[in-house]
Amino acid sequence: MTAFDFDNRYLALGERFFAQTPPTPVKAPELIIFNAALAAELGIPGDDVAALTAVFSGNQVPPGAAPLAMAYAGHQFGHFVPQLGDGRALLLGEVVANDGTRRDIHLKGSGRTAFSRNGDGRSALGPVLREYLVSEAMHKLGVPSTRALVAVATGEPVARERLLPGGVITRVASSFVRVGTFQYFSAREDLAAIQALADYMLEKSYPQLRAADNPYLALLRGAVERQAALIAQWMRIGFIHGVMNTDNMAISGETIDYGPCAFMDTYHPDQVFSSIDRNGRYAYSNQPPIGLWNLSRFAETLLPLLDEHPESAVKAAYEILETYAPRYEGHWLTAMRAKCGLTACPGADKDTDKTLIDDLLALMADNQADFTLTFHQLSQLADQPSVRDQPLRELFDRPEQTDGWLGRWRRRLLLEPGSQAERQRAMQAVNPVYIPRNHQIEAAIRAAEDDGDYSVFHALNEVLQTPFTRQPGKDKYLQAPKPEEIVEQTFCGT
Ligand code: AMP
Ligand code: MG
Repeated sequence: MTAFDFDNRYLALGERFFAQTPPTPVKAPELIIFNAALAAELGIPGDDVAALTAVFSGNQVPPGAAPLAMAYAGHQFGHFVPQLGDGRALLLGEVVANDGTRRDIHLKGSGRTAFSRNGDGRSALGPVLREYLVSEAMHKLGVPSTRALVAVATGEPVARERLLPGGVITRVASSFVRVGTFQYFSAREDLAAIQALADYMLEKSYPQLRAADNPYLALLRGAVERQAALIAQWMRIGFIHGVMNTDNMAISGETIDYGPCAFMDTYHPDQVFSSIDRNGRYAYSNQPPIGLWNLSRFAETLLPLLDEHPESAVKAAYEILETYAPRYEGHWLTAMRAKCGLTACPGADKDTDKTLIDDLLALMADNQADFTLTFHQLSQLADQPSVRDQPLRELFDRPEQTDGWLGRWRRRLLLEPGSQAERQRAMQAVNPVYIPRNHQIEAAIRAAEDDGDYSVFHALNEVLQTPFTRQPGKDKYLQAPKPEEIVEQTFCGT
């Protein structure tokens, strides 16, 4: 039996917060991948494959686990739904790692729960593989995210538009509490529950804030800061979440709920991949304002805790929400400057640098330049003489349009301290060579679903472990899709 050190604090919140349900066993589980490095951090032994397969397919509940479906509500595409909840997921329990850190272990695709409504509680294999690849890539790219611990094939079909093989993914996060979890209790005017949940989140994800004069104001400020930082991280790598509903935003500031998410190939600020996002609510450039919209919904749930006088509570919340935009802008500028080899050195001007970056992005959009390759090639140049510009120029429909910008960039680099080699190393450390490109994910899913062949998935996952390092023989993973390979739309697969 796989040994875990469980200490399930969510259970102590009480019955209003969840519905206890065991996972539904599956017919013929097969372990696809086990994240041994993450398991080691968590103190989960990985030597007994049969035991791991049994536990992470949901066929066996390990001792000390207390599987439960978490209750939550949420705004879906702007419309409030008072009850959603884990319809196909379960919190298996909270583990205490060897070093004392605690993490929640969540199964997704593990069967029906009290919140399943008409759903089957299952997940198709494709979305499981997609989430595994993308969430682990995000972590390796330096972006706070749920982690992927295990993916299993269930050996059972799930009925979607057609029959597809089923899968279960095990995700790990500091917490799976969402904006929608707070909204669930706010909609029921259950102030005691909101306070208990806020205390729980302070203890779990913001322990340093518990000593604040008003810990609930501090919690809101903390969530605003982490979300502003998180979305700036998404923007710097061209990540589009796809379903930023309030039930898919974690209070802890980790990226959660990978559905129709995707990385952009060609840069365009209006880019949307999700088939259900018909109005572009969650388009690339709308992500920062949507972050604020979601945080405003979170703030509303906290109002009764912020101040006994409603007007003062609103004012206090408003003052904190107003810091979101400047916080986001600050994180974005720092990240984008770094991508261009720029720092806030003496003589650097924020507004001038922002204009320089915005102008590059505008050129990229006008010229259908690949987002990741543009910055990768820029880091190859650092401030080399212009004879080396050709690989970058070729990414643009009208290469000559880059020359003026490169001239301005090189003049700006003159202000930077540090050697050319140092600058190049710094740029290469923030501009990935490899991202989980849609067409590569699609190829991995096709091979797994159509032929039961996981080698394409494993090869892609391997390359994404070190996304900032050029790997010999792996150039196909850095290339943009050929026209016939371009993936225009992604699906949640629910
Ligand atoms: P998502 O779009 O994955 O964030 O899910 C939105 C809501 O639908 C959540 O309450 C999910 O638990 C629920 N849901 C999604 N897929 C299923 C399914 N196959 N069976 C039951 N509930 C589901
Ligand atoms: Mg969700």
